Amino acid sequence: MLADALKTAFRSLEELYRRVDRSSADKSCRACGMCCHFKDFGHRLYATRLEALFLVAKSGRPPGEFTENSCGYQEGSHCLARGGRVLGCRAFFCGEAGGHSSDLHEETLAEIRGIAREAGVDAEYGDLGVLIQSLWDAQEAKVH
Ligand code: SF4
Ligand code: SF4
Repeated sequence: MLADALKTAFRSLEELYRRVDRSSADKSCRACGMCCHFKDFGHRLYATRLEALFLVAKSGRPPGEFTENSCGYQEGSHCLARGGRVLGCRAFFCGEAGGHSSDLHEETLAEIRGIAREAGVDAEYGDLGVLIQSLWDAQEAKVH
């Protein structure tokens, strides 16, 4: 079982993610999955530790390998962890899809940090693949 504080944090995070998704309703992403090829796209995917915990819990599966150009939750063009994907996945849009809002990203990230602080989750923010791997290595990430 998740600790009560973490459960509460997950609920708050889900609500926040729903808000981000609603605010992106006008984007025209065709879900091609190309922006999940980080190096090709010229970016990296960072996340908070709380988001990594949530992603692992929601995905219900061990991740594949993360590299500098691939996400361990991508299969073909599909995201295998769509319900748990982190803010960086939700807030990023290529120019063709309508563009990225760095303001939305920064404001939401500040809120996520507040949720993590309240729940007593480490404030770590870093490369998603490294975070996910460390969770599995430490066996902190249990699938619920
Ligand atoms: S944001 Fe752009 S690159 Fe990323 S999945 Fe959507 S259409 Fe493809
Ligand atoms: S979690 Fe899903 S949306 Fe995010 S980078 Fe991986 S495959 Fe792409």
